[in-house]
Amino acid sequence: MLTTAPRGTSDIMPAEVKTWRYLEKIIRKICSLYGYKEIRTPVFEHTELFLRSIGETTDVVEKEMYTFLDRGERSITLRPENTASVARAYIENKLYSEQPPVKLFYIGPMFRYDRPQAGRYRQFHQFGIEALGAPGPNIDAEIILLAVQVLETLGLENLKLKINSVGCPRCRPVYRKKLQEFFWSHLKEMCIDCKSRFDRNPMRLLDCKKCHDMAAGAPSIEENLCNECREHFVGLKELLTAAGVSYEVDNSLVRGLDYYTKTAFEIQYSPLGTQSAVCGGGRYDGLIEQVGGDPTPAIGFAMGMERLLLALEKQKLLPEFDENIDVFVVCPKEETFKTAFATVNNLRKAGLKVDHDCLGKSMKSQMKQANKLRAKYAIIFGDDEFSRGMVVLRNMESSEQKETPFNDITAILQSEVRKND
Ligand code: AMP
Repeated sequence: MLTTAPRGTSDIMPAEVKTWRYLEKIIRKICSLYGYKEIRTPVFEHTELFLRSIGETTDVVEKEMYTFLDRGERSITLRPENTASVARAYIENKLYSEQPPVKLFYIGPMFRYDRPQAGRYRQFHQFGIEALGAPGPNIDAEIILLAVQVLETLGLENLKLKINSVGCPRCRPVYRKKLQEFFWSHLKEMCIDCKSRFDRNPMRLLDCKKCHDMAAGAPSIEENLCNECREHFVGLKELLTAAGVSYEVDNSLVRGLDYYTKTAFEIQYSPLGTQSAVCGGGRYDGLIEQVGGDPTPAIGFAMGMERLLLALEKQKLLPEFDENIDVFVVCPKEETFKTAFATVNNLRKAGLKVDHDCLGKSMKSQMKQANKLRAKYAIIFGDDEFSRGMVVLRNMESSEQKETPFNDITAILQSEVRKND
């Protein structure tokens, strides 16, 4: 146990970190194109925040939260998602006094006691967007376009964008009633989860995988929207069409809690199989009020970073990363070691990527190490040359080598490396 990470978590090893940094770089670049600024909130919050925001009847709150009492007997929860924390930060830091919409993004670890499998972990990472203060539908379309641009820039093709409207507290109660009337006769055949959702959250009956057949012919939300929600949905569809983004309306894409309103969307990447959802989002006009702020329209999405990386690996879309070092300093002799060590330091201060042997190895092994690290150049401190104030400079690719005055080495290497950059 001591030497194994907890189930559902994993180390991100140096070879993988570069793929993460690549992904994060693209995300940050595209967020800046759309004017979204990064926010970093704590990884734990007061449990109450998640009970209020995610909703006490959801799977996440009922079954998946990492909750504990801290030493001061406060109930603390590792964040299972970041929207609640952003909503709290928006109120606490008075971001509502800024010109709306307040456009934020985050990248970070989330924690859910989920059943681990490929694409589903207990510590996983999300990139997400929150746009607060604008009623849409233009901002709804904007964040969808941002999500699509991130995915397309990564090279993912054949993405499926599904959109829906979940209505609002005005039209939803009527729709819920209609759904309950429709499902009433199926109550006995439903799975246990759906039975408990029947009263609390009947819209969730539409997206249950086990009870899928039962939902055929159920009344559709689209036909039951109030005028405001219908116009919003039509507006969103028009803007997506104008931007040339194809989408599919899926009336079974639901949320169900009262503070979710209007737009809901999901982006699927089918080569990922059962865990094909790479992005999920929606409008939550009632949330800020629910956690103690003034009524504020808002919309956001979250993307699973591990799923994106799985997709990129699967489709061989990860670029080659240049991990070469510039110079390897070879010095097998003790007498010149201190000078060689100082040279390593000076070259690094001059901005070059430099490495050297730390184990007192032979000349041959040091040259092998230089090859392994794919050094562009090696500086060899030989006794004979060094006594004449010279070192050997070797171009590792062409194997050309020549004696070079020791005092010129930094300037020569700086200009050589810059030339090849
Ligand atoms: P959600 O916050 O549940 O709407 O999830 C948003 C996105 O986060 C999903 O589309 C997934 O890509 C990702 N995600 C959610 N739960 C997990 C998990 N347990 N492990 C890995 N990725 C996840």
